[in-house]
Amino acid sequence: MFKPATSPAVATIAPPEQLAALQPGAVYEALGSSLSGLSATEATERTRRYGPNTIREIAGRPLASKLLANFTHLMALLLWVGGMIGFIANMPELGIAIWAVNLINGGFSFWQEYKAEQATAALKRMLPTYARTLRAGEVRRILAEELVPGDVILLSEGDRISADARLVESAELRVDQATLTGESQAVAKSAEASAGTGLSRSEQTCLVFSGTNVAAGTGKAVVFATGMETAFGTIARLTQSVGDEQSPLQIELAHVTRTVTIMALAIGAFFFALATAFTGLRAAEAFIFAMGMIVAFVPEGMLPTVTLALAMGVQRMARRNALVKRLSAVETLGCTSVICTDKTGTLTQNEMTVCAIWLAERQITVEGGGYAPEGRFVENGQPIDPQQDVHLSELLLAGALCNDARLLPPDAEQAHWSVIGDPTEAALIVAARKAGLNPQAVEQGRPRVRELPFDSRRKRMSTLHQSVCDPSGELHQNAPDLLAYVKGAPNELVALCTHMRVGESDMILEPQQQAAILSANDAFARAGLRVLGVACRAIDTQTAFLDGAGKIEHDLTFLGLVAMQDPPRAEVVDAVQRCHRAGIRIVMITGDYGLTAESIARRIGIVRGDARLVTGAELETLDESALRDILHHEVIFSRVAPEHKLRVVGALQSDGAIVAVTGDGVNDAPALKKADIGVAMGITGTDVAKEAADMILTDDNFASIVSAVEEGRAVYANIKKFISYIFTSNIPEAVPFVLYALSRGRIPLALTVIQVLAVDLGTDMVPALALGAEAPEPDMMNQPPRSRSEHVITRALLLRSLVWLGLIQGALGMLAFYFQYWTNGYWGQWLDLPIDGDLYRSATAMTLAAVVATQIGNLFAHRTERTSLFRAQLGSNRLIWIGIATEITLLVLIVYAPPLQAVFKTMAFAPSGWLFLLLLTPVLLLADEVRKLLARRHLGGSAGSRPFGTGNPPLQSGRPM
Ligand code: ATP
Repeated sequence: MFKPATSPAVATIAPPEQLAALQPGAVYEALGSSLSGLSATEATERTRRYGPNTIREIAGRPLASKLLANFTHLMALLLWVGGMIGFIANMPELGIAIWAVNLINGGFSFWQEYKAEQATAALKRMLPTYARTLRAGEVRRILAEELVPGDVILLSEGDRISADARLVESAELRVDQATLTGESQAVAKSAEASAGTGLSRSEQTCLVFSGTNVAAGTGKAVVFATGMETAFGTIARLTQSVGDEQSPLQIELAHVTRTVTIMALAIGAFFFALATAFTGLRAAEAFIFAMGMIVAFVPEGMLPTVTLALAMGVQRMARRNALVKRLSAVETLGCTSVICTDKTGTLTQNEMTVCAIWLAERQITVEGGGYAPEGRFVENGQPIDPQQDVHLSELLLAGALCNDARLLPPDAEQAHWSVIGDPTEAALIVAARKAGLNPQAVEQGRPRVRELPFDSRRKRMSTLHQSVCDPSGELHQNAPDLLAYVKGAPNELVALCTHMRVGESDMILEPQQQAAILSANDAFARAGLRVLGVACRAIDTQTAFLDGAGKIEHDLTFLGLVAMQDPPRAEVVDAVQRCHRAGIRIVMITGDYGLTAESIARRIGIVRGDARLVTGAELETLDESALRDILHHEVIFSRVAPEHKLRVVGALQSDGAIVAVTGDGVNDAPALKKADIGVAMGITGTDVAKEAADMILTDDNFASIVSAVEEGRAVYANIKKFISYIFTSNIPEAVPFVLYALSRGRIPLALTVIQVLAVDLGTDMVPALALGAEAPEPDMMNQPPRSRSEHVITRALLLRSLVWLGLIQGALGMLAFYFQYWTNGYWGQWLDLPIDGDLYRSATAMTLAAVVATQIGNLFAHRTERTSLFRAQLGSNRLIWIGIATEITLLVLIVYAPPLQAVFKTMAFAPSGWLFLLLLTPVLLLADEVRKLLARRHLGGSAGSRPFGTGNPPLQSGRPM
């Protein structure tokens, strides 16, 4: 995201201290701007003059040092030394070969690391920051890097401020300046001139700074500094030094590699002693021999392949609309056992349409869908003219004026009517426009003087307007000086009302009318509609300079209810079912009303039986154990405040669950941080929520969380697959050494050290990578989540790879070796075969070829864990075929190309050898089919001990095979 500024120009045009002393009205002129913002040409001119609003990136670790690291780790050093000893011991081809293999392996690892980094860097570019500006009188959403000094920016709760700016308007504005000052408490900001001397810049209440966040309220400000000239730019060096975080899996595997290396060194030393004592090898030869053992066992290529597999998983998730910010999140996603999700926008489309209005016993249907302001108002089956209906027009205007959204007509970029801002508010503007009212024109007659912004705790919003005109713009006689419009959650709003509008008069709100409002609200909610109450209050000038919500939001006159449709997203129903099959619980935690929430939850299948409805207020009365108890049943949390989310997440976690939680607002940040996987909404989410989250949904869609979980599981399974795959070939690599040593050299060494290296660091690399790129197995989401404490290298994995497949492969390797002797004049002879001629070389080539050939069958065997390969509907994986092609090409070159023959000490064998190898190819595949069959039988039958390689039991017995 950070790019170097192309222009070194100074991106500030007036000293901040001077700006702070000005009255708000004078700020525009001081910064060469105007009430309607900069014109397009001025903005372009200033971009040229001041450069883009970006922070120069500090160069990371130099590429050369990253490259070097791949040639200087423990294994690589061992190989350098091994090669050197080869030269010293007068075996130059071996020395060259070991070094060449080390170079190739280091280069490949570096390439993998580089690809992984590129993948994560590409994600950063997919997360641009935007700013809302006023340019040429129009509110526009532009890339933050396009901001220039003089731009008028609009701020609202949860925004990350993208430039240093002087406030010109503010409403209850509080800014979290922790990134600049370290102070975690949000500070109040206002447009008033702060004339105080001796204040530091961040203490000036009328200045806001780039890199800080709006914690509450709204504001308007004029930019005075951008890019490196901002206060944030000057300290950017500090904030950019975020280290490369390692995921638990990478840490575990680094640990495994180290342990195995130490073990292999010990085994190597043992074999060294054995070889020198029993076989009479020279010390140098014995050392290289021991090294062969070490190389056979140490999984050298594993770590970079794991990193790349994680990064490829991240890329696949991005294609499925889930941007993961850390590699570690990929693993955690695979363990997710509970998803706590909000409703609006995540489960539903967040495309609100007002479909019904309730006005004191009258019910009016509003026709038309989407944001196009076209549709009739129908009462008792008859269309009505809303403009002739004073009560209805007042309600519609109240909803449209107590509103910060904007409705945009179709244009060249957008074929349909679209909105900027909150869809709930946009729907109210659309309803007013359907009635033929023009809220913008009316607002000119009733200018807004104050706003109490929407807040998810108060669940309402109020605006205060000057002098009242009727819809046609005429001033009322005896009109009050100010009029407050309030809209919000009906139950809470009714409690603040003393009167109710009926027709053109106001009457005292008696308990039975209150009950009628609430029952109308419930009826709408049961139909899955989102309901807002709308109210107003006349206020005289004496109380005009009221402060805070408590002074405005009381003694209200209830105008009516507005019900909106927000249909569930089509793909969510299937996603919910997949969660159920995958043993993942879904807990709905919504700010909306319980009955609406329940209706939607049932429609999409989140709740099936009796579900408990718990409101935020009830939640507060529950102690920890009662809450945990409730969480063992189907439950919906409604009318919650963000801190309630935090409690639910905590309770689930203390019960051992791995929790993913969604959030979009500023106040959701603590819950997002506490969750194992914090999920922020890419479209409607605030910058603060996105920063706190581990994953961002680019389409705000619940189904994308489920896809990410599936990919998370697949990545983990793939990593297990390729580890198991590369472990298998360790056995045929080790068996010849063991037989050679145990027979005191009478069984010739069937595979040389350099040939072992050719498999481990050559032929096995691309196929292993291909397993890392496998698509999720079809039954992946029919199994319960894996436990986070489960290790990637399990007993089952070792039994499958080293014992079952490895031993078979070891036997086949030796068989191929003897096949060459037996078919060339030594039929039936096991011991004391000649080892100094072409026959020995061609026999070792056969062993090498047999390992490669059987690894092809093994590669296919590892594409699935339990499902029979012949019945699995696997997606195509191009890399598998590329892997096989490279494997075969390398083998053919090693066997036939004279220079490689010299290096690898091989010799071509007869075509009948290839026929024999062809027969060996499917053996491991078939052997693993037997294991898979037993595994499936066992799982279908008892729940007792499981055969190796079975992992978690599936949830349903009728799963596909
Ligand atoms: P979810 O938490 O599932 O996203 P939500 O959008 O209903 O659901 P909130 O945004 O916290 O949750 O809203 C809570 C309630 O506040 C809503 O049910 C509605 O009654 C009211 N409300 C929502 N938006 C506005 C608004 N712009 N102005 C006034 N009241 C609103």
